[in-house]
Amino acid sequence: MHPGRTPGSWSFALSTQRTIMNDHRRLGRELGIFDTDPLIGAGLPYWLPAGAAVRKAVEDYVHELERRNGYHHVNSPVLGKRELYERSGHWAHYMEDMFPPMNVGGEEFVLRPSLCPHHALIYRSRGRGRRDLPLRVAELGGMYRSELSGVLGGLSRVRAIQINDGHVFCAPEQAVAEVSAVLDLIEAAHAQLGIAAARYRLSLRGEGGEGGGKYVDDPDMWARSEAILRGVLRERGRDFDEERGEGAFYGPKIDIQIADPAGREATLSTVQVDFFQPERFDLRYAGGERPVMVHRSVVGGLERLVAHLIEVHGGAFPAWMAPVQAVVLPLSDAELPAAEALLRRCLAAGLRAELAPADRGSLGARIRAHRLVPYQLVVGPREAASGRASVRLRDGSQAGEVPVERLAGDSRPLF
Ligand SMILES: [Zn+2]
Repeated sequence: MHPGRTPGSWSFALSTQRTIMNDHRRLGRELGIFDTDPLIGAGLPYWLPAGAAVRKAVEDYVHELERRNGYHHVNSPVLGKRELYERSGHWAHYMEDMFPPMNVGGEEFVLRPSLCPHHALIYRSRGRGRRDLPLRVAELGGMYRSELSGVLGGLSRVRAIQINDGHVFCAPEQAVAEVSAVLDLIEAAHAQLGIAAARYRLSLRGEGGEGGGKYVDDPDMWARSEAILRGVLRERGRDFDEERGEGAFYGPKIDIQIADPAGREATLSTVQVDFFQPERFDLRYAGGERPVMVHRSVVGGLERLVAHLIEVHGGAFPAWMAPVQAVVLPLSDAELPAAEALLRRCLAAGLRAELAPADRGSLGARIRAHRLVPYQLVVGPREAASGRASVRLRDGSQAGEVPVERLAGDSRPLF
């Protein structure tokens, strides 16, 4: 379904091979992606301009990918009343990962540990018929996890997460096709982002006492939802490992695992089948039927995603997500007016572009300072006269004179 970027395409010439020393915490600070301040707190990084640009490019891409695949986007608050999480089951099964409630005027509010309850209520807010299903709801929103400060690090483990979340409400007989469609989306997104999954994991509940109160106690429900996920993985011919004790409290998950340069694994993307919350929130369609809730995240939390992208690409992001896509380099002060005009054309064409004038050093020094920028536009006397620029790619090759509109077109993600 996904065409992918043609290998060798001149706009994407730089190798994206992982360098083993790419620790996202070091590179992320060097590249101006993010930073932290003890006064804000551990696990609460802030995004600097380069990081905010990468993040916005990825957000826009995922939003568009979802829109093209039938999702409706919503927005909902990052907190809710304690009763909401009692109803969803989070209070009973997930409390140790939640921030304690805040008392306001005699009511208790909780920073949300997930978006699921809000989306269940959005489903319930209207009468739903069989023809409304599958209803695909997506949101990029905040969620919170009360991690202890000892386990926090950089962008990969944080207390405030911007999650690419979504829920598909469908009839039971639609669940297999919807889970498979989510895996299509995940695989398309990974190809576009340059991510290779370490492995697929079928995450199941813990056994009996081992799981304690962490899992809803309904063996028939678990058997049904596990059969759906296992069936989809087998039908797609996908290798996977089954692991007990990694499921969500309400149901099993297919987790797509990524690994950092040190080999430490984390879950990036996920799809989950849930018969529990539709019952807890008394969700219905066609008068009395109970929908299934398919929870899914195509690219996970943006913090963990961007941490991984920094490590995978070593800071040399694909042109469509690069913080600065084009740098304009006048040879000398004489070409400054032409360079400024070219910069304005780049910005108007939609490129993230900046100017590196001659007073910042020799052309070689300025190129080295911008070695991660995909398009380096050199303006000499000949280019100044013609109003064009000769394009140097970051692997050192020359692309000749290319109109900025074409650079802008080549700097868009593919769907
Ligand atoms: Zn959910």
